Amino acid sequence: MKITDAKVFVGGPGKNYVTLKIMTDQGVYGLGDATLNNRETLPAAYLQDFLIPNLIGLDPRKSEDIWQFFYRGAYFRGGPIAMAAYGAIDMALWDIKGKLAGMPLYQLFGGKSREGAMVYAHATGADLEDLMDSIAHYVEKGYKAVRVQCGIPGMPSASYAVPEHKGAGKHYISDFSGIRPKVEVWDTGRYMRYMPGALAEIRDRFGPDLHILHDVHHRLLPREAAEFAKAVEPAGLFWLEDPTPAEDQDALGLLRAHATVPIAIGEVFNSIWDCNKLIEKELIDFIRVAVTYAGGITPVKRIVDLAGMHHVRTGFHGAPSHSPLCMAAQAHLNAWAPNFGIQEYLVLGTPACDALFPSDHRMENGLFHVSDAPGLGVDFNELEAARYKYTPGSHPIVRLEDGTLWNY
Ligand SMILES: [Mg+2]
Repeated sequence: MKITDAKVFVGGPGKNYVTLKIMTDQGVYGLGDATLNNRETLPAAYLQDFLIPNLIGLDPRKSEDIWQFFYRGAYFRGGPIAMAAYGAIDMALWDIKGKLAGMPLYQLFGGKSREGAMVYAHATGADLEDLMDSIAHYVEKGYKAVRVQCGIPGMPSASYAVPEHKGAGKHYISDFSGIRPKVEVWDTGRYMRYMPGALAEIRDRFGPDLHILHDVHHRLLPREAAEFAKAVEPAGLFWLEDPTPAEDQDALGLLRAHATVPIAIGEVFNSIWDCNKLIEKELIDFIRVAVTYAGGITPVKRIVDLAGMHHVRTGFHGAPSHSPLCMAAQAHLNAWAPNFGIQEYLVLGTPACDALFPSDHRMENGLFHVSDAPGLGVDFNELEAARYKYTPGSHPIVRLEDGTLWNY
């Protein structure tokens, strides 16, 4: 069996999805997602210029050897661009493997460990009352877990993932289109003084059963993160996400020494080497890698197994930049993983997105139910894809009030 051709598509409804389609001499094809948010053309170019010419003629069933060929075979290894491209290839090869076996991928991993996988939604508000309305909206829809972000009184601009105007919280996506990034202004003191009380009010309002998550988005220094984690303990969070940038991983020991709030980190990680220390030292409780950015199902399954040895559960990244293909790869891992925790899930199921990526994966009452179709269980409509073109975009950047550049 041989790979005969592969194509890359860039575009989609409101997002520049990078979709890889690998064709074989037996008519079976595989699909993968290489979408690197706001840098989408880079993995697409790496696939087109280098990886696809090397794929032609290989046996698509040898997904492990092909992964090693690209990763270990590269002199300059890793990084988000390369790993997103390898991730798409690996997903597509697993898709082919499942189709050849006539089985959904979760069966190849070891079968289902649960019927539905708990997901969390993003509730946001320009202020706390606005956020309360947004949380209530998701609770009414059956969500058991909600990430909560709100505007901070006196903050010079909307804080992380928060709309500038009230009422936008139910559909708010914080991405910004345009090649030059929008500038947000951050004030650590105001955030640290306000947010613990806001989280306590949310807990009071929604009771003990709702899982509440909060994302600091790398904004605090290690000592500040330790103080903040201690201050939010009474709110009983499901997790506190990215309290500090994870470049200085030993710094998390300070936070661990002062608070028991569960910590989730890893959405920007690209390999097991980015997270093995955090997992082995048990400095985190949830690992947030994404199948696309961390190089595919093959390496992420190894991360899940390593995490399981250290009581670390999964909480895969699920920003709207991931196409339904990456979300499907993660859904199959979520169905299987004995150490599954939760899945971030931003509703992808718009009619336009469903037309581009038809599937029967489904969400019900805050649980994701994985499809039983062979492979990933998601198809790709090339006629629909022809309607879309690439639109440049950028994440915002963050500055302190005096102009100092800060962590987005
Ligand atoms: Mg995050």
